[in-house]
Amino acid sequence: MSTFQHIKGTFDILPDAYTIGDTRIAASHEWRHVETVLHEVMTRHNLEEIRTPMLEPTELVARGVGEHTDIVSKEMFAFERRGTHYVLRPEITAPVTRAFLEHHLEQRGGVQKLFYIGPCFRAEQPQKGRYRQFHQFGVEIIGASDPRADAETIATMIAVYRAFGLTGARLRINTLGEPEHRAAFRDALVDYLTPYKDELSETSQRRLDTNPLRILDTKVEHERALLNDAPTLLDHVDAEALAHYDAVKQLLKSLDIAFEEDPMLVRGLDYYSHTAFELEHDALGAQSALAGGGRYDGLAPALGHDGPLPACGFAAGMERLFLALDAIDYDYPAPETPRVFFAALGEDAEAWVFKTVHDLRQQGIHAAHDLKGRSLKAQMREANRQDAPYTVIIGGNELADGSAQVKTMATGEQTAVSFDDLADYLSTPPAA
Ligand code: AMP
Repeated sequence: MSTFQHIKGTFDILPDAYTIGDTRIAASHEWRHVETVLHEVMTRHNLEEIRTPMLEPTELVARGVGEHTDIVSKEMFAFERRGTHYVLRPEITAPVTRAFLEHHLEQRGGVQKLFYIGPCFRAEQPQKGRYRQFHQFGVEIIGASDPRADAETIATMIAVYRAFGLTGARLRINTLGEPEHRAAFRDALVDYLTPYKDELSETSQRRLDTNPLRILDTKVEHERALLNDAPTLLDHVDAEALAHYDAVKQLLKSLDIAFEEDPMLVRGLDYYSHTAFELEHDALGAQSALAGGGRYDGLAPALGHDGPLPACGFAAGMERLFLALDAIDYDYPAPETPRVFFAALGEDAEAWVFKTVHDLRQQGIHAAHDLKGRSLKAQMREANRQDAPYTVIIGGNELADGSAQVKTMATGEQTAVSFDDLADYLSTPPAA
């Protein structure tokens, strides 16, 4: 009988790293390490964690991300149950904004600086760096229209990759101006491209009708050439929006954060205004985006909030971060091993070990033993595999003496320790 397999585009995170094709899937302790570093970076940037459900109302995502985006039109894992429409969240900005509005987080006072880490779901064609269940971490700074909020968002994003010693990432930025500037630009772009419609790819032809700004993302060579002479967003942005953009650039310079201006950068999601940015790394191959984000003052109103709610943020892919760390041969800390492994000879010893291991664990000591009732040799093999710095063999003599020989594996040295003193003795690792 055949057994089950994981769903294409998802993957298991196991105690050991493994590979699928040429992609290394990091071990669970490596994920935990990365998450710990992320928490540390977020906390020192004075961000607080928010966790929202993986299930959201489909309408939230449709409105919050935009009907004509690829995410909503093609990539949602959505279903209906008893008249309610659910979606597995494809991103976390709309959910965080929903939670912010629902719980009136503005009442906490000041600017809300939030971060998240969690799974997202998109029905994309899986490939290296692109999955159907992937993980995003990100930041949302809600309640500040000041350009410093935009610059601080970007600085926090950069700080994450610096914390891992990753260099060589490229930051591209642009301004999208206000929605009316984008609308004027969209019209100008459609006017410019329409005479060339027959030369456009099928995708771009469709986008010309539904979401023309996405054509700027095209990778098709002759379309890129065509776009060289196209009107740019910057030509349609007013003085106030330009001033905001200039301020963000100045602030980035004041922090020594290098960036390239990219007038073609629009981002896929509908709700952005003003600052848009993307962080890329060449080591990632085709899926080069590590992270992206921008200002999204229009999102809360799109979700029914009365009046504007200035906000900006970034979202980053965990799997892309792991790929980038692979490229620099990142040195993950070794996983925690048991402090001590107990081997037992005979039934009485097994019973004693079982109870003692439990007691030591209650006292905070990471203790291990064998649950298979195997030979001493097999137990010692297991002790080796588990790599505990101390091992203890318990048999009839030890039980009679009330004392154990604790072996320090690195030196082979044995020390007699009375049962009463075991917890004390094992509470510190052997001297290096
Ligand atoms: P987006 O919300 O599309 O801007 O995505 C933000 C970040 O999430 C991207 O820069 C990627 O690092 C990551 N990402 C987006 N979609 C996927 C996916 N299908 N698989 C893996 N990572 C993704």
